[in-house]
Amino acid sequence: MPAPQKPERRVITHGAPMLPDPIRLATLMQEAIAVSWFSNGGQLHQRLERALGDMAGDGALALVSSGTMALMLALRLGDLPEGSEVITSPLSFAATVQAIAWCGFRPVFADVEPATLTLCPRAVEAAITPRTAAILPVHFLGVPCDVAGLADVARRHGLWLAYDAAHAFGVTLGNQPIAAFGDASAFSLHATKVLHTGEGGFVATGGDKVLAKLRRLKNFGLEGGRMTGLGINGKLSEAQAAMGLALLPDLPAEIAARHALRTRYDAALAGLPGIRPGPGRKGASPALTTYALRMAPGLRARLHLALAEERVLARDHFPLLCGSGSPWADVPIVTADGAPIAPRVGPEVLCLPFHGRVADEDADRICMIIRRVAYEEGQA
Ligand SMILES: *Cc1c(COP(=O)(O)O)cnc(C)c1O
Repeated sequence: MPAPQKPERRVITHGAPMLPDPIRLATLMQEAIAVSWFSNGGQLHQRLERALGDMAGDGALALVSSGTMALMLALRLGDLPEGSEVITSPLSFAATVQAIAWCGFRPVFADVEPATLTLCPRAVEAAITPRTAAILPVHFLGVPCDVAGLADVARRHGLWLAYDAAHAFGVTLGNQPIAAFGDASAFSLHATKVLHTGEGGFVATGGDKVLAKLRRLKNFGLEGGRMTGLGINGKLSEAQAAMGLALLPDLPAEIAARHALRTRYDAALAGLPGIRPGPGRKGASPALTTYALRMAPGLRARLHLALAEERVLARDHFPLLCGSGSPWADVPIVTADGAPIAPRVGPEVLCLPFHGRVADEDADRICMIIRRVAYEEGQA
């Protein structure tokens, strides 16, 4: 007789996209079909833009085709001279540095702060040269940057300040929406983010004049049918907008589930030997995109294995943008003094499964594995 098979446990993925109600999605698509209008700022696009504008605070935002497009447009809004240097963080997703390079600008990396893993204003200042035209800091893992410190550096040196806010959807700082800081903020509506349109993104920026320019930039530089300058096709389609609108009614429940999951993780994982909470900033609301822990890289590797054996897929943070094998591997990380910390603190981050479909018992199982490994390590 064959040995009884161990029941296969459900895989718990690191992320899981919100799923639209199919009827709601079809009904929205039917609206586009009925008016035979599939892009170029149709009704669905306008509705989604208004809904997101309400969330972003001042309402000055434009939907675009991806988060990467949002980054490129947020930079292009600054009218930077060709070949300018743009200072950014080495800790981010590929899109941040690719957007800089795809615009023809030169990425320059400055070091991060140890507590928040976001760009250090003093390191940014040390990285400034006569060719520097902009700073592109990242609200990494949803933790807000030192927005006051960076604004001060940007103002004193006359630099454009655009934020990569792809991880910071829904985050507030001192009760202000994260989009309120800097000259422009780029958000992603990719399926791996909180609210999504499959592919998509938006740029939030201050005031109607900038918004008008943004709308020209994403539409071939056209205004009243005439080309007025550089532009691209950065538009979001009606099908994408339909996805976003179909998900909107479920967004509050998804956000509530993520807050509850964070509370559950926090309670079960506090004070474990060798494990520290992830980065954070006082006065900021918690991230909706990720739940991070920090630990020595050796423990992180063992936790990864122990979790994978139980079909739990955790994730490292992204590899250093100027790490070995990257097209920017030879670009140094500028610091205010001493050796850069980004290469050391990056490998300390472990991101746990974080989405609305992690059930309470899944979370408890994940925490039990982490507690076991942490105490085994603590005794070794
Ligand atoms: C997701 C993401 C982006 C944008 O990605 P798209 O896939 O182009 O929407 C940009 N920066 C960071 C840090 C991201 O995580």
